[in-house]
Amino acid sequence: MSLPDHLAIVASTDQASATCPGCAASSTQVHSRYQRSLGDLPSQGQAVKLHVTLRRFRCPTPACPRRTFAEPLTGIAQRMARRTC
Ligand SMILES: [Zn+2]
Repeated sequence: MSLPDHLAIVASTDQASATCPGCAASSTQVHSRYQRSLGDLPSQGQAVKLHVTLRRFRCPTPACPRRTFAEPLTGIAQRMARRTC
């Protein structure tokens, strides 16, 4: 048996709604889901990776230019970052 080269943490978010960064409207309409992988600090000498399932919401405001937006990972990582903060 070989050891994996990294520890994987699998997580998902559980808030029912998210706020559009374009117009501040709250949306509960999930448009799609996608996975993000983030490098975390090593644990016991092993690399740690966080695999998070995130949702993309549809903005409810017809005039909003964003139309869809990804939910934020508040307290975990900056938008578009590859690593946790
Ligand atoms: Zn919006």
